[in-house]
Amino acid sequence: MDNSIVEERPLVLVVDDEDYMRFLVGESLDQAGFDVIEAGNGEESLKMFQEHRPSIVLMDVMMPGMNGFETCAELRKSPGGDHVPVLMITGLEDIDSINRAYSVGATDFIGKPINYPLLGHRVRYLLRASDAIKKLIGSERRLADAQRIARMGYWDWDAKTDRLTLSPQIYKTLGISEQEPITSFQQLMSWVHDSDKAAVEAWFDDAATTGESTNITHRATSPDGTEPYIRQQVEALCDDGEVVELYGTLQDITELHEAEVRIHKLAYFDSLTGLPNREFFKERVALSISIARRHDRQMALLFLDLNNFKRINDTLGHRVGDLLLVATAERLTKSMRATDMVTRDDQLDKLENLARLGGDEFTVLLSELDRSEDAGRIARRIIDVLSEPVILEGHEVYVTPSIGISVYPADGETAEELLKNADMAMYYAKRNTKELYQYYNQSMNEFALRRLTVENNLRKAIERNELTLNYQPQMDVANGGVSGMEALLRWNSKALGRVGPDDFIPLAEETGLIIPIGEWVLRTACHQAKEWIDKGHQFSRVAVNVSAVQFSEPDFVQLVRDILDETQLAPNALELEVTESLLMRNAERAIETLNHLKALGVQLAIDDFGTGYSSLSYLKQFPIDRLKIDKAFVRDVDTDPDDAAIAKAVIAMAGSMDLKVIAEGVENSEQMTFLRDKHCDEVQGYFLSRPISSGEMDVYLGSLDMTTPDSSKVFEGYFNKSAQGND
Ligand code: C2E
Ligand code: MG
Ligand code: MG
Repeated sequence: MDNSIVEERPLVLVVDDEDYMRFLVGESLDQAGFDVIEAGNGEESLKMFQEHRPSIVLMDVMMPGMNGFETCAELRKSPGGDHVPVLMITGLEDIDSINRAYSVGATDFIGKPINYPLLGHRVRYLLRASDAIKKLIGSERRLADAQRIARMGYWDWDAKTDRLTLSPQIYKTLGISEQEPITSFQQLMSWVHDSDKAAVEAWFDDAATTGESTNITHRATSPDGTEPYIRQQVEALCDDGEVVELYGTLQDITELHEAEVRIHKLAYFDSLTGLPNREFFKERVALSISIARRHDRQMALLFLDLNNFKRINDTLGHRVGDLLLVATAERLTKSMRATDMVTRDDQLDKLENLARLGGDEFTVLLSELDRSEDAGRIARRIIDVLSEPVILEGHEVYVTPSIGISVYPADGETAEELLKNADMAMYYAKRNTKELYQYYNQSMNEFALRRLTVENNLRKAIERNELTLNYQPQMDVANGGVSGMEALLRWNSKALGRVGPDDFIPLAEETGLIIPIGEWVLRTACHQAKEWIDKGHQFSRVAVNVSAVQFSEPDFVQLVRDILDETQLAPNALELEVTESLLMRNAERAIETLNHLKALGVQLAIDDFGTGYSSLSYLKQFPIDRLKIDKAFVRDVDTDPDDAAIAKAVIAMAGSMDLKVIAEGVENSEQMTFLRDKHCDEVQGYFLSRPISSGEMDVYLGSLDMTTPDSSKVFEGYFNKSAQGND
């Protein structure tokens, strides 16, 4: 920091060969408030300068040895000497010596005879001026540094002369040589990227006419082949409403731009598939709506999800699940590329019309639609493409999508509404139609409303005593006796009438209501079984279905233990049915839970066997007693060789693993004969009995108590004449 002004008495070096001159100068400066040191010749002064670093030097020109000019020139070259003010004292008032004084770097000169009263002021003035210059030099350096660091330069343009002046940093920023100076805006334009030239020109013309301060971002082309991103900001100087000068900054913002692109990607794209995400898609739909509105056009939105994604994810693992999503994105992309009518708007990239909303949900925007039927055509094509099998990590995976379609403007006027309605149509497609795609229609709102009503009523079903259990007997094929029974939940709602388990159990699982309901089922079935056993009825077990949601509850094992305690039912009279896909969802944990349950003494069965993707290696580790062949394989077991082969294989495999097999959904004697021939252990189905109420079951079991258990007429004897239940 410069202290010549702030220090109380600045130090002055007086150089003169004449003693009395030094004395007079010294005295007057001393009185004017300076400290003074003296040197009698040039050489000595250079030494003293280094030693004391005075704030200013007063130097006589005429000296023996090194004269003042030579000394000044030397001083300027010496360390710290370049900016110190040097005041030459000269008796020679000719122009030559004045010129010479300046040329050797003197700051100012003063003629002899010296006006002593003024000398102090003169010196002080010089010090102040030199201080200002030092500060200026410092701030210029800092400005240059700042501009270099910010990669920013400035320019100004004189309207009258049409001349452009650039700061050196602009040349550096653009990577061009200062050797060929740019003096017009046209010259500068040659470094603007071709595709941005028109915009930059318009921007400049606009600023030159309106005088408004604006900015523009554009690309440049550097000689080194790079294409930096440039931001320019312009301000105008006006006189009487006329622009007389424009000045602006030019900054390289490539890094900023790249960061923005990255942030944009993160905020707007799904990292797994690289497709646009929900946010992006919503903005995209909103844009398309505004275009469609202006041109009075239709457009459509397809909402898609994969039907068996969850099962694949659960059984084959998340890695394969992820790969499936990536493959789906790729196939969608491909099928969109092949679609000529998705958009005719060339500015809009076709692929921006796709998005992954999350999970296995994808959306497609058909931004221009002649007829709404075309949306169904494209949906069909997507279904065909996505239904082809894919090989993922060696697994051949089959998926089908369900697609809901909403059409603008008929089904909604906003992105939100169109999405919501397409989603609802998709849900509908999944459940209620043979076709895998479905157009939205008004009645679907009623469907959603119905779901809500079902949910609200289900919440009150237990306390209103609307739930009951029906029991379906299971027959031991070898001796024809009742081996067990499956408890099946029935809901007779006062508000809604009878609702089937397939309609309300998924909803109960989604809403968590299955927890209290499942507990109720378990308790009721155990109570009932205990009561019947106490009555002396002959059967070995009651089977209760356990939902995945219940099974994954941390205190499920404890609940089973408590209910067995409470009802005093022998543990092996209880069988828990869990589905294959439930076990495969997290096989390690499932094995642990099953082991705890097994330790209680209950029996365990795998329900709906054959529909999941069980791996045999896991099956061996599950401590289970029984496999239930899904009714889908039983239905055509006597006519379809594939189903027959599956049933046979399951029976054989179970035998080799010491597991019992029960076939469910047996409806006729042909199926029965087939299963008996193949040594299936047990059967359950309408052929023997529909699920019946506990009252009916009580009567039936009572009638058996009199008969011999090995009579093959047990079932026929009762059910052929009994009502088939109202199930
Ligand atoms: P599930 O456990 O596989 O039960 C067998 C289903 O097949 C029952 O349907 C039964 O009525 C039906 N069924 C029995 N014999 C035949 C036949 O010969 N032909 C045909 N086509 N079907 C037959 P239901 O009672 O409608 O139950 C459907 C599903 O709901 C059950 O499938 C089970 O997954 C679930 N479920 C039923 N009760 C409960 C429960 O208390 N808790 C839980 N978590 N799920 C339950
Ligand atoms: Mg079952
Ligand atoms: Mg089943």
